Amino acid sequence: MQAANGKSVLEGIAIGPLRVVHRAKIVIRDETQSPAADPARELKRFEAARLRAIEQQKTLYDKALAEAGDEIASVFSIHAMMLEDQEFMDSIRELIVSGPHSAEYAVRVSGDRHASVIADLDDAYMAARSADIEDVTQTLLDVLTGRDPDTLQGETPAILVAEDLAPSETVRLDKKLLLGFVTRRGSASSHTAILARSMSIPALVQCDAACEEWNGRMAILDGHTGCLYVDPSPKMLEIFRARRAEDERRQAMLAELRGKPNQTLDGVQIGIEANISGVEDVAAVEANDAEGVGLFRSEFLYLNRNAAPSEDEQFAIYKQVLRRLAPRRVVVRTCDLGADKTPEYMQLAEETNPALGYRAVRICLTRPDFFKTQLRALLRAARYGRLALRFPMLTGPKELAACKALLAKCREELTAEGVPVGPVEVGAMIETPAAVLCADALAENCDFFSVGTNDLLQYTCALDRQNQHLEPFVDMHHPALLRSIQMTVEAAHRHGIPVCICGELGADLTMTEWFLRTGVDSLSVNPGAVLPLREMIRGLDLSAGSGPKT
Ligand code: PEP
Ligand code: MG
Repeated sequence: MQAANGKSVLEGIAIGPLRVVHRAKIVIRDETQSPAADPARELKRFEAARLRAIEQQKTLYDKALAEAGDEIASVFSIHAMMLEDQEFMDSIRELIVSGPHSAEYAVRVSGDRHASVIADLDDAYMAARSADIEDVTQTLLDVLTGRDPDTLQGETPAILVAEDLAPSETVRLDKKLLLGFVTRRGSASSHTAILARSMSIPALVQCDAACEEWNGRMAILDGHTGCLYVDPSPKMLEIFRARRAEDERRQAMLAELRGKPNQTLDGVQIGIEANISGVEDVAAVEANDAEGVGLFRSEFLYLNRNAAPSEDEQFAIYKQVLRRLAPRRVVVRTCDLGADKTPEYMQLAEETNPALGYRAVRICLTRPDFFKTQLRALLRAARYGRLALRFPMLTGPKELAACKALLAKCREELTAEGVPVGPVEVGAMIETPAAVLCADALAENCDFFSVGTNDLLQYTCALDRQNQHLEPFVDMHHPALLRSIQMTVEAAHRHGIPVCICGELGADLTMTEWFLRTGVDSLSVNPGAVLPLREMIRGLDLSAGSGPKT
């Protein structure tokens, strides 16, 4: 047996034979030295192919709409728009005429140029968009050369293995014959990955070990761990078949809870929102029927790149998330860099105690221009949905006031520049003991609290969350943590504002009853934990039993 790893796109198990995808290669003659085309004829061929490709996108739109919903279907209206994009299409026409070049050569060269400009932005989100340009380019080439794009699957069900899969290829696949797929390239935020998630297809991307020799061999794709087992033993097959059946039973049961209220048997309600770290998680928020986003960890937009994201780049991302989730509320936590998240370009000095150091609002308030870029992007995006923001690692009202002053300044500046802005609610993260003790003063000056239980435990119990040797001392139900949550809720309610729990403890089902009894207003958890929590809440009866356990 061989085990290979990749990045899982969907938690689920697929079992079946592997089918390595072979694409008929389109060979395009290098025309750099020998331009030899009839430009009038090539222009005509190109225009006909472009119109045909636009028609194909419309068909794919309808198929995606029926199988995966309108958000993912919109990928194909974006592709159709790319095929109408003046600059992109003119660059192809110019190459045909100036070469003169064949339509195929001009499409290939111009498509590659456009895709690589975006891919070079060194940003996972934009890299995923460059895959869309590659897809559109490939569609044009398929039409021009008469290549049939529908030949990736065989006659029997299989797990497909490919270098990469374009969104248009994925949506064309016959779901009855598609058990799952594994690609060597791709990213978890690509449209192909999003499609797989919304069509509930187990898939792995970035599986380096994928190779030609796997063709026809039996495999288990375990989306829970991101592992692919090739030639598994009969015993493993038996175990994973049982797990898959259990997964399916459980998913069907949880799906029944979509659209149902988070209400106990005696009528007590609580909100359940989702934690996300980028646009790629929005589909999971929708699929799991979360009420909104209670924590968007925005600092993930700043990682794995050479420079901080620009105002326009951030604006585009926040706008997309807000639009897709409107009218649901999206709470963006302003960037929480430092400690374990230290991108090189921030030039953060080495620290002896990074968790107690230069982190979160401490960075933002001492680098106001850096912070203002994010605040401006958020204010601009606020017009496209219901936006709230909240500031991480506050220790008291002074920092909250400084953050709010900077937000007000950004609003003033944008308005003076004639740039439209929208309303935002402002919240405070309660994740330091100091913030708990100052909760009344904080509550007077904000619209809501979010308790970050991960950090609140770290700082309350002096337990470095990065230090694995401390594990024996970690008690997620430590009485000091529970008392701090209780004090926070009491202070918030004295001032008429709600409290959300957004750390990992929110998804701990052994704590659900305690949160309800303590008066917590909402829980924000990983999208996959939303429905299990709903199930738990709907089985509770608070009229029986006693009060909180602190
Ligand atoms: C927390 O501290 O509980 C929290 C939600 O934020 P993070 O885990 O990102 O620090
Ligand atoms: Mg935190």
